[in-house]
Amino acid sequence: MKNKDANLNEILARLKKIETRLEEIAPVSKRKLPSKKDQIAQINSEIDVWAQKFPSIDIEFELAKMLDWLKATNKRKKDYRAFFRNWLRKSTNTVGNDPVAPQSYTYSCAIDKANCKDEISSFKDMSFYCDECNKIKAITKVTRS
Ligand SMILES: [Zn+2]
Repeated sequence: MKNKDANLNEILARLKKIETRLEEIAPVSKRKLPSKKDQIAQINSEIDVWAQKFPSIDIEFELAKMLDWLKATNKRKKDYRAFFRNWLRKSTNTVGNDPVAPQSYTYSCAIDKANCKDEISSFKDMSFYCDECNKIKAITKVTRS
């Protein structure tokens, strides 16, 4: 009887070790991320931290821009903090002293170019919708600034 207990404890201890190792190997796939709302709330609560990491960027403005973009493109992300970090890195590249000259992209509506307003963005992967025609705008001009 005593032997059996000992064995069981040994097995449990071994299982625990395996679990710990698995956690080290694949922590992301095992852990479920909080909901989008919670993740955004967390980003919001860390604005000061982000501002320290990206001092040249208006974090709140970029966060609003990212949320608009996600809404406009109907995109879902698993890890919004990771996505936001990449978003901010991208922003530093377009405003900073990057050796690559930043470009600006003009998005125009294909339906009624004369009357619909153009959008200008430094990103080439934005999705702007025309308020009038409800159609997605396409890049019609690339300007090196
Ligand atoms: Zn239009």
